[in-house]
Amino acid sequence: MSFQSIPKIELHTHLEGCAPPSFIRGLAAEKKLDISKIFDRNGGYAFRDFDHFLQVYEAACTTLQSPEDFRRLTMAVLEETAAHGVVYMETFVSPDFCGGGDLAAWKEYLAAMVEAADEAEAKFGITLKGIVTGIRHFGPEACKPAAKCAAETFGDFITGYGMAGGEMAGRPADFSYSFDMAREAGLPLTCHAGEWGGPAMVAETIRDLGVARVGHGIGAIDDHALLDEIIERGIVLEVCPGSNVVLKAVGGWDAHPIVKLRDAGVKVTVSTDDPPFFHTTMTAEYEMLHRTFGWSEDDFRAINETALAAAFCDEDTRARVAKRLEPAQ
Ligand SMILES: [Zn+2]
Repeated sequence: MSFQSIPKIELHTHLEGCAPPSFIRGLAAEKKLDISKIFDRNGGYAFRDFDHFLQVYEAACTTLQSPEDFRRLTMAVLEETAAHGVVYMETFVSPDFCGGGDLAAWKEYLAAMVEAADEAEAKFGITLKGIVTGIRHFGPEACKPAAKCAAETFGDFITGYGMAGGEMAGRPADFSYSFDMAREAGLPLTCHAGEWGGPAMVAETIRDLGVARVGHGIGAIDDHALLDEIIERGIVLEVCPGSNVVLKAVGGWDAHPIVKLRDAGVKVTVSTDDPPFFHTTMTAEYEMLHRTFGWSEDDFRAINETALAAAFCDEDTRARVAKRLEPAQ
């Protein structure tokens, strides 16, 4: 089985977090910024733990200063992602990193990303949609401009609103204003929870923010009543096993609960999160799922069908992508 050639859907990525280290180093050199301390001896991103990862991530983002930088970033990311068989990808984009939450600036950055996405679709056959994301550890007030940017630019490319960043900053209800604003504008919702926060954080995220999907959500495994609620509500988990292993949210691949969640009846999907940070690709994720849990082509097909059904895109796009998942005759 060639894991690389399986057509894949990926719902949980962070655009800046997909930036190849060489791309960020190139931008830093162009702008004469010294960010050498975020790289290891081999040129990869270096961090100790989750908090340090967030610091390294934000340091890498300091090189991304203009719409043109984001146009180039989007092209670089889509070329790399398409090489691993991904035909449809959703990515978190943060107005905080694109003009500091200012709506007019955000629209310029967005136009640059859309231009790159259109070009990459024609060149590499990958479709990209964006989910506007508030950064949790910046606080509830800082998430409001992001939600406004989402509400004002919801359309063909921006298809959802979500929240990422430090999960343990505040409780979900603290951020309900932003989620309510996005919901009222018609945006479907997702939020990181249960990577670090355990079942209580997942439960509050579902009940207080009304999300359709949960980023990670693996902490739910410890609460059977919560699993029943997730199943009943049809909530989909954006599971990122390689990310969880590298950041030590789980003890290792063998200890990852993705199979237990799926066997319990929860809708799970597979994504890379921030692939170069976690030394992973979609091909590597599939290889490890095969090696650890014996997943076959049928398992991967089911995962991708679940992901497509949970994608935040319009129905025309969903129908078009569905054809790409059909096995070649
Ligand atoms: Zn994430």
